[in-house]
Amino acid sequence: MSNLGFQAIYYLLNSLDYVVCERAFLSDDKDITEFERTSTPLFSLESQRPLAEFDIIAFSISFEEDYLNILKIFDLAKIPFLSSERKSAQPLIMAGGVAVSLNPEPISDFFDLFAIGEGEGFVSEFLDVFQSAQCNAKTKEHLLEALIPVEGVYIPSFYKVTYKEIFIEKVQAVKGAPEKVKSRKVKNLNAFSTPASNILTNETNFRNTYLMEVERGCGRGCRFCAAGFIYLPPRERGLAGLKKEVMKGMEKTGKVGLVGAAVSEYSGLISLCKTVIENEGELTLSSIRLDVLNQENLQILRSSGYKTMTIAPEAGSERLRDVINKKISEQNILESITLISKAGIQKLKLYFIIGLPTETIEDMAAVVDLVLKIQTAMQGGLITLSINPFIPKPVTPFQWCGYEDIKSLRNKMDIIKKGLQNENGINCSFLSPREGYIQTLLSVGDRRIGNILVDAHKKGWREALKKSEPTPDFYTSRERGFSEMLPWDFIDTGIEKEYLWKEYQRALKGQTTPSCDTGRCIRCGVCIER
Ligand code: SF4
Repeated sequence: MSNLGFQAIYYLLNSLDYVVCERAFLSDDKDITEFERTSTPLFSLESQRPLAEFDIIAFSISFEEDYLNILKIFDLAKIPFLSSERKSAQPLIMAGGVAVSLNPEPISDFFDLFAIGEGEGFVSEFLDVFQSAQCNAKTKEHLLEALIPVEGVYIPSFYKVTYKEIFIEKVQAVKGAPEKVKSRKVKNLNAFSTPASNILTNETNFRNTYLMEVERGCGRGCRFCAAGFIYLPPRERGLAGLKKEVMKGMEKTGKVGLVGAAVSEYSGLISLCKTVIENEGELTLSSIRLDVLNQENLQILRSSGYKTMTIAPEAGSERLRDVINKKISEQNILESITLISKAGIQKLKLYFIIGLPTETIEDMAAVVDLVLKIQTAMQGGLITLSINPFIPKPVTPFQWCGYEDIKSLRNKMDIIKKGLQNENGINCSFLSPREGYIQTLLSVGDRRIGNILVDAHKKGWREALKKSEPTPDFYTSRERGFSEMLPWDFIDTGIEKEYLWKEYQRALKGQTTPSCDTGRCIRCGVCIER
């Protein structure tokens, strides 16, 4: 329920006079047992109607880790997994969200269609066509054919994939489907109401926080970051509208959370903070770029109740930060930390990635070294370190990279643990390299992954991975070449593949690339009218 995309689409749907949209979630484990014991099909929250009785079931999927949960929902709702096995009278099952907009292929066998890209403009256009097609179409195939012209619609059964040995050779569009599916973008964010947590519930992580989107897209170009690339170009929401949203948040909970890929670069940030301070409220930001901090804005942030600073150096050495295009020097980092400490902020959350392209063991020592220097600059307080393995993501310059060997990642984690184990006030958390491996498989896999998911749902990952053909390592562990057809190549995100490759080559040479210069720059292709 904290997902703003989910909430925005829920409100847009219910604002259409011919639509009723209800919510459904995967239940907690104890409730699942009860559903199974009583053989009750999964139902919606609002009217307790079984999911299988709706015209459409639409999933919002932000994370690949949820793919197994989708199968659990299908099971509980008593709906066959495979779209090819479902009857025309059964609901149309579709999905949108960032994970499927990057690469829907691993779950393409389970869905009738996907909504690729940003959802706001899609919703009413899609439902207008759906409504008239539903009356006339005799079969589900006819209904799907009628939906082809809606921009952003991807119907997996209308794309035939052929393989040469184990590599994708060709993807052929049939039934009049376009060869490339255009990912939808919202040109003017202000044309739609601000995604915000209009429904607040105690059952979520952000239960007391009124979240709102302030901007979309990040022009910094960090080369590992899917959220940065998929939401390009950077776009801001108008300040006047956001101030109204802040006031709504003040009335609801007194605490607002600003959300976006580059919140700290929002041009009206300080003005929004001042609105919070004037109303004696509290503020939280999803994360902050160190190089935008100065004494004045830190004081304002502090006065608006900002207690924990979340920052992401990502790599310990300057060399590796150049490889990933982070563009921040050690001196910048330490100067900003000193300012943070002087502003009275005592809690720091630091994000690092390990297993990055070109990384060596020396880069692990550099992480330890940098954290110790940050600790000194903080002069006390608490540092929480979050260390995550690098996961190659589609639509980024690192989409051709492999995931590092699990043993090697564990070894690297041990170096960091040992280097910091005697330090008071530093806590470390690590994402398990094995979890990262599965996440990689689900991020960069093709439609053959569907079988593995069904096996993993029935027998667990260990069994499923043993049986996989091609082997899981084929997807996760090898570096790909430019000419290899990637499973998500049929999606036109507006970013040219050649640009991403060029960026990858620059990364390998340790060359940085400047941030977006929206309005003047056309280098990645997104800002060219399509
Ligand atoms: S064309 Fe330039 S400004 Fe536009 S998104 Fe790409 S890099 Fe950024």
